[in-house]
Amino acid sequence: MNTALKITAGAMRQIDAVVRVADLAECMGLLGSEPGGDTVTSIEVLRARATAASAEASPLAVKRAADAMAARAIVPRGIWHSHGRLDVFHSGTDIATIHRLLPTMAMHGYVRDLSTAAPAVEGRDTAVLPMSDGRLMLFTLVSEPIPGTDLSEPATWTRVSVDYAPTGAEPSAELSAKSLRLMSAGVIVLLEVPPCAAVERRIVDRATMRQARLFSLVVNTRRHRYAQCLVVTDVDGDTTTKLVDCEVEVVNEGQSGDMDHQAGEQSLEWVLAPA
Ligand SMILES: [Zn+2]
Repeated sequence: MNTALKITAGAMRQIDAVVRVADLAECMGLLGSEPGGDTVTSIEVLRARATAASAEASPLAVKRAADAMAARAIVPRGIWHSHGRLDVFHSGTDIATIHRLLPTMAMHGYVRDLSTAAPAVEGRDTAVLPMSDGRLMLFTLVSEPIPGTDLSEPATWTRVSVDYAPTGAEPSAELSAKSLRLMSAGVIVLLEVPPCAAVERRIVDRATMRQARLFSLVVNTRRHRYAQCLVVTDVDGDTTTKLVDCEVEVVNEGQSGDMDHQAGEQSLEWVLAPA
């Protein structure tokens, strides 16, 4: 796993500008990325204690900054702070802050093991489509009640067929009144929907292992930079963390390379075809 902190030149300029104005005073904030993205593209400034060479901010200030990010559809991926004119490193207080704040952000950065990549029929009324972040979109047939009663026949896919598609296309699901077409990893599964049945969908996470990388960046007025990456690993609900040194890579906007690993529902092309 590459642990480098990738940050856009624009986000880095914003931090440098805040640090220049604060000068001797300590300032800090949050690092944020697009949902599913890997590169820090956005920052928020926190109200922090303004003298010591350590990152301290009240939980309320952190929450306000995280809310401001959420309003812009940005997810928190770490923290940054300035040491003013002093050298860049993590103090004991910084390390404590990292372990206090960063694990709470892991949910936004989890990457899961892709155990299955192709869509599959799991039962007579269910099918799954793996998404690019390792979670599954689960489709279930729901039958409408027999008129005049509240009983319903269990619904069954009327017909299932498999076809092949070019690999490399984003996972997609296409639903019409009569069929559901699931495509990923070069496989197309076409399911015929019986009359009097509807298709429900929800996202499920069956990964047993997931891992997130979160960052703490320290800067100063001389534009020195120092970062560490907190790797949060969750195996069946047991979470472990490991803090490792990492490079800081300033990348140009549009070159973040995030297109390769967009995650979450945004990456799933969901088309409602005309009946
Ligand atoms: Zn510090």
